Amino acid sequence: MELYRKAEPPSTGRDWPGAFRRQLEAVKDAARIEDVAADHGEFRLQGAGRLIGRCVSPGHEDRTPSMTVYTEEQRFRCFGCGEYGDVLDLLRLADPDMELWEAMMTLSQRYGIELPPRPDSWLRRQKRQAPVRDRIEAGRIEHVRLLVFRLIWMPWLRRLPEGVRDEAAASAWSDSWWIAEQVYAERRGTADGPEGVGA
Ligand SMILES: [Zn+2]
Repeated sequence: MELYRKAEPPSTGRDWPGAFRRQLEAVKDAARIEDVAADHGEFRLQGAGRLIGRCVSPGHEDRTPSMTVYTEEQRFRCFGCGEYGDVLDLLRLADPDMELWEAMMTLSQRYGIELPPRPDSWLRRQKRQAPVRDRIEAGRIEHVRLLVFRLIWMPWLRRLPEGVRDEAAASAWSDSWWIAEQVYAERRGTADGPEGVGA
């Protein structure tokens, strides 16, 4: 039982802007690793607080079930390929193209966790930085924005009555932009400090 506790998982998001780090924590608190594991394979009870199943990694052809999910600790470890971590790591192991922020957004949507509010400092910075943003940068942010919109808002919009859908979509589209900017800033390593308050 000590094995899976030895190292910090990769998904700590330590350098993320404050709002995103808090979102990450909220997701980890709300999400259940056994739900996510069950989405990607058959897991059966092996003992108290322990499930076993085939590794969810597409790169690991797991003939004998090697992956253990610890429901108390909300962690997993594959004793075949050595992968381990928390619920976000599990999701990304099952879908290696998924980035941390995408995993976070996917689980936010699934467990109904509210997204972080747009900080005032972001709006102020927006005004200052808008003129220097070039077309390549804007294009990259726009790309992330589409992903955010598709991942988070589309399933929600589909459930809304038609009469309010357009208005909701417009505001969701606008919110996707600031989230995309946060993701982009984090990738470039220009994210603000813990509270997201720029100079
Ligand atoms: Zn494995």
